[in-house]
Amino acid sequence: MGLLTEGTPLTWEETKKLAEHVREHGINQFINIYKKLRDRKGDVLKWGDEIEYILVKFNKGAKEVKVSLRAVDILSVLNEKEYNDPNGVKSLWRPEFAAYMIEGTPGKPYEGTLAHFNVVEANMKMRRQEVMELLTQDECALSITAFPRLGCENFTDPPTVPTPNEGNTRSLFFPDAAVFPGHPRFMNLVRNIRERRGEHVAINLPIFRDTDTKIPVDDSYKIRKAAKPDCVYMDAMGFGMGCCCLQLTFQACNIEEARILYDQLTPLCPIMLALTAASPVHRGFITDVDCRWNVISGSVDCRTEEERGVKPLKENKFVIKKSRYDSIDSYLSEQGEIYNDIPILYNKEDYEKLRNSGIDDLLAQHIAHLFIRDTVSLFSEKINQNDEEDTDHFENIQSTNWQTMRFKPPPPHSTIGWRVEFRPCEVQITDFENAAIVCFVVLLTRVILSYQLNLLIPISKVDDNMQNAQLRNACREQRFWFRKDITTDVSPPEANRCCKEAMASEFKECNLIGQMTVNEIINGKQGEFPGLIPLIQSYLSGMDVDADTHCTIQQYLKFIQQRASGEILTTATWIRKFVTEHPAYKHDSVVSEEINYDLLETVRDIQEDIKSCPDLLGFRIMSKTKENVPHALENDV
Ligand code: ADP
Ligand code: MG
Ligand code: MG
Repeated sequence: MGLLTEGTPLTWEETKKLAEHVREHGINQFINIYKKLRDRKGDVLKWGDEIEYILVKFNKGAKEVKVSLRAVDILSVLNEKEYNDPNGVKSLWRPEFAAYMIEGTPGKPYEGTLAHFNVVEANMKMRRQEVMELLTQDECALSITAFPRLGCENFTDPPTVPTPNEGNTRSLFFPDAAVFPGHPRFMNLVRNIRERRGEHVAINLPIFRDTDTKIPVDDSYKIRKAAKPDCVYMDAMGFGMGCCCLQLTFQACNIEEARILYDQLTPLCPIMLALTAASPVHRGFITDVDCRWNVISGSVDCRTEEERGVKPLKENKFVIKKSRYDSIDSYLSEQGEIYNDIPILYNKEDYEKLRNSGIDDLLAQHIAHLFIRDTVSLFSEKINQNDEEDTDHFENIQSTNWQTMRFKPPPPHSTIGWRVEFRPCEVQITDFENAAIVCFVVLLTRVILSYQLNLLIPISKVDDNMQNAQLRNACREQRFWFRKDITTDVSPPEANRCCKEAMASEFKECNLIGQMTVNEIINGKQGEFPGLIPLIQSYLSGMDVDADTHCTIQQYLKFIQQRASGEILTTATWIRKFVTEHPAYKHDSVVSEEINYDLLETVRDIQEDIKSCPDLLGFRIMSKTKENVPHALENDV
């Protein structure tokens, strides 16, 4: 998403007519990118995080907290700083779906030395501070995954009302006025997704059944046939796209390495989702899930009844199993090919065209599969393009396939290489936690590449894991399919040593994959699996690190270990505990205004370091602020 440049969105009818046009030119554009950049090599590791924030406003007297619809005002100031000094700013700010959301990234990507891990948290703090300076005394920017009372009566400041019978969202709960108004893209997506689908999006999350929980949950089921009485029903894009997450992008040295990273990180998506679970409360109710994933997936599910398999196919070509926001359907590397065990839909002509342009089977299938989705947002200025130079039609489809992983080709005429994006994580309350997760994932990529590990399991098993990961308390209680024997013929001796030690003295003929808890995957299981943290430790032990950076990395790894083992709580479990132990809680699964106020006030105090919270953060050295990256170290990450 660019800066706040306006454009003229087409109506749904106009957009629909141009679906084939976008498909044809989008694929041509990818082919041209590929031809120009397939042999690009020698790029170094660069990486960066993206964090989304929800702006809230506290009313102390009334004990109420609302989402504050001021993102446009705040962004205009932040973006002006960038405009005046594009290379000097330490943070970049972008709009997000909701009028109460903003997204921040570091001003420049980080690079490949371990010393960079020492500035991640400081940059996150600085970013938060930068926003806070533009807010009023009673406002705050929270990095929470979901606003607990989103869609409840009067949840915005200033007050707005939903308009079920007019406008674009037509929700019983979520007003059009809560959609980001500064760029037409968002409202356009809302309208087109609803129109393409032919009805409201529908999300039904099972309610958490406490002793006095009322079933039916509310009257939605009387008004909407899609609403299930024992579920929290949501009917708007805002319920999902109005949630926040934590994402990471890595640059690979070439296209091959990008494919490997894309594949190897895929089995980690559900594990990291369970580990970062942070959203048990939706629309004012405690639900039986801990994560946003299925909510956001349903919130942009533009499939028609035919595509969902509700009606026989007539107008549409395919029955499609997943929403355009979902886990990936296929691996891209040679190693991954045998694990592509779910059907991959595509138009044969698109696939053939890609193949005839010299693109291999796996990549051709991936791109053709992305293009089974129609465009749901088109601007009149962008219809006619030069496929040799422009990439908007490709990006149009690529950027509305919101999957767990994204394979990103280099932008034309830039110094940027082939990248992959890691997209499953929920965002955490503190910069410390977010920095820990980011550094852990980056370290894992280094271990995977230098130890040449193979974490692949069948894609169908990754899908199963994605569903399990969202269940209440999954991080402690669920078991996940995971590969046990992860070293390869080409892994260096230290990797084999680390794994073989864990496999116990006598070599066991092990099944390739088994079911493990998050704890076993992260911390290891004697006799079966070395554990991701021990592998990282083994990798780090061979490197020269300055004491300060070492200390930072170790406290992040310790945090991940404790989170996985259950010594400290996931954000989701902590929120459940806070709500159910609140004196005003009536054991009815309802998160009242008052409980929400106390919860978010506590979240604010924790993020500001005013309140310590050992059961959420564990052992932690209090924040050090490091402004500059120390000189590059000898050992590259
Ligand atoms: P998107 O919204 O498409 O995912 P953003 O531009 O919001 O992408 O964020 C991309 C992330 O990639 C940021 O964290 C940024 O710092 C990082 N980044 C920028 N340039 C590179 C690069 N060359 N390689 C890897 N990451 C990069
Ligand atoms: Mg972004
Ligand atoms: Mg992103």
